[in-house]
Amino acid sequence: MRPSSRLEKIPPYLFAELERKIAEKRAAGIDVISLGIGDPDTPTYPAIVEAAQAAVADPSTHQYPSNRGRQDFREAVAEFYQRRFGVTLDPETEVMPAIGAKECIFNLNLAFLDPGDLALASDPGYPVYTGGPLLAGAEAELMPLIPELGFAPDLSALSADVLRRARLMFFNYPNNPTGAVVPEGFFQRVVELAGAHDFLAVHDNAYSETTYDGYVAPSFLATPGAKEIGVEVFSLSKGYNMTGWRCAAIVGNAEAIAQYWRLKSNIDSGLFEAVQRAGIAALQPAVDADVRAMNEVYARRRDLVCDALAQAGVEVTRPKGTIYIWAPIPAGFANSAAYCEHVLEHAAVVISPGGAYGRSGEGFFRISLTTPDERLLEAVARLRAL
Ligand SMILES: *Cc1c(COP(=O)(O)O)cnc(C)c1O
Repeated sequence: MRPSSRLEKIPPYLFAELERKIAEKRAAGIDVISLGIGDPDTPTYPAIVEAAQAAVADPSTHQYPSNRGRQDFREAVAEFYQRRFGVTLDPETEVMPAIGAKECIFNLNLAFLDPGDLALASDPGYPVYTGGPLLAGAEAELMPLIPELGFAPDLSALSADVLRRARLMFFNYPNNPTGAVVPEGFFQRVVELAGAHDFLAVHDNAYSETTYDGYVAPSFLATPGAKEIGVEVFSLSKGYNMTGWRCAAIVGNAEAIAQYWRLKSNIDSGLFEAVQRAGIAALQPAVDADVRAMNEVYARRRDLVCDALAQAGVEVTRPKGTIYIWAPIPAGFANSAAYCEHVLEHAAVVISPGGAYGRSGEGFFRISLTTPDERLLEAVARLRAL
C-alpha cells in the first residue's frame, strides 16, 4: 500500500525502530539493558494515582471531554504557573489541556504552517520539531545548538530569507538531548526575534521540574513580552512519572491557543477527564516532595554514570536538568549510529545515537537515567569492557 509522500519524507520514529530491535534480542534470550528512551521507571506518585482512581470510578468522567478542558484543570495549571514560575495566566483563554506535549507540538505545525513556510527547530532536538513540519507539508530549518553558547542556537546566523518564511520556532530547556539549561538572556533574544519577524515561539517545557544541584528552571513565559509572541507546552510526563497518562497543557498566547483549539477540535476529542483530575492532583504543593525525592534518585544515577564515564576517559558535562547524559562517541566509529549498533551488538546495551536528534547531534550518544542504579552500573561496566 502506498503511503502519502508526506509520510515517505520522514524517517521511522527512532524509538519505534529501537523497540523492534530490543524485542528481537530479548526473544533470542539476550539480557538487553535499555538506556535508550527517556521513560521514568518508577510509578506515578501515590496522590496522583489515588485521585485518578476516584475519578475513574465517577461516571461523570466517562463521556466525551471538551477540548477546552475542565475549568478546574485550567485553574490548577494557572495556579501552578503562578506559584512555581511567577507567571500569571488567565485560565479561560491562556490554558488548554493537551494529550501529551508530542500531540500538541505536532498539531501546532498543522495549525500554523503552509507549504513554503518554515519551522525553526533546535538541532539536536526532539524529533517532532522536524517531523511535524514535514508532515504538515512545510519545512524545518535546523538551528544548530552551539556548545560554546551553552547549547543555544546562534540566532544572528538565521538569514533574512529564513526569518521571512519562519512561522514557528521550537526550543527546549532544560534540553533533551544535551541536558543543557537555558543560557542567560536566550529567552529574551527569542522574544525580540519573534516580535520582529512575526513567528510563534514555542517553548517545549518537558523538564522544568527535573533539575539538580539546586538549579530551578524558569518558564519561558516569565520572560517579559513572551506571552505576546509565544506559548509554552508543559508536560507532566517526566516530572511526575506520567508518560503513559498523556497529560500536558499549552499555556501562553490566547490567540495562538484559540487557533490550536480550532484545529484540535477537528482532530481529537479532548483529554480524558479522569486524567485531567489526576493532573490537578499532580500540580498541588503536596506533590513537590515526591518530585524532589525523584530528582535525588536521578542526581545519584547521573553521578554514577558520569563518574564511570570519567574513569573510562569519556569527558561529559554533569547536567543540571533532564534525565539524560550526552557524551561524545569514542574515536574509531564512522558515526553515532555505527557506535550505537556496535554497543547493542556487543554489549547488549541500548543507547541513542546523537545523529537521530538531528545533524548537530552527530558524534554524540545519549544515555537515559530511567533505569535502576544496578542496571545502569552494569550497562556502563559493559560499555567500558567493549
Ligand atoms: C518526553 C518529551 C516530550 C513528550 O512529552 P509528552 O507529554 O509525553 O508527549 C516532549 N518534548 C521533549 C523535549 C521530551 O523530552
